[in-house]
Amino acid sequence: MTDEALQKQFQTQVRRPASRVACPAPERLLAGAEAGGAEAVRLEVLDHVATCLDCRAEYEVARSLMLAAVAPTARRRWLPYAVAASAVLAAGLLATWQSRGTTAPVLRGDPGAMALWGAEISDSAIQFAWRPAADSRRYTLEVITDVGDVVFSTQTSDTVIVVPSTSLRSGALTWSVLAEREDGTGQRSVVGLLTLP
Ligand SMILES: [Zn+2]
Repeated sequence: MTDEALQKQFQTQVRRPASRVACPAPERLLAGAEAGGAEAVRLEVLDHVATCLDCRAEYEVARSLMLAAVAPTARRRWLPYAVAASAVLAAGLLATWQSRGTTAPVLRGDPGAMALWGAEISDSAIQFAWRPAADSRRYTLEVITDVGDVVFSTQTSDTVIVVPSTSLRSGALTWSVLAEREDGTGQRSVVGLLTLP
């Protein structure tokens, strides 16, 4: 799909009331949703969609259009990655994450830790999303049981990933993301709670 075709398709799916003058333009939301797009635009858009439910809905439309536009052969493959679970469990305070009107608690690590946008559960998959960390070349998502077993781990250069439900088990889980910087150092995210039916 060409950029122009994608923009047209996006605009036909997105209609806005005049009350949303402060929101980023649809083209900007689309640019922010692009996997290889400019980091500054991406951050700005993600900061906005974190607090604006209208834009968050549009952002998700943009993301799904982007994913649909990528040929299946070009999609990233899952990469297994073994990590120690103990660092992930070093979590502290309880905060609240609001997403699409549903509330899921997020365990917060240190104040400087990377934020998680949330995990959205559908029938067949869970979509994990987190805030981009500066200079990061890749992210490792880990899903961990309450006794510290890593049940799923994968790497991506994106800040959104969809995991099939069949890859995870039911019950109480936590999830966390490790951002790896260009210089080889890393940054750990806060820890999110996830309960799968
Ligand atoms: Zn908005």
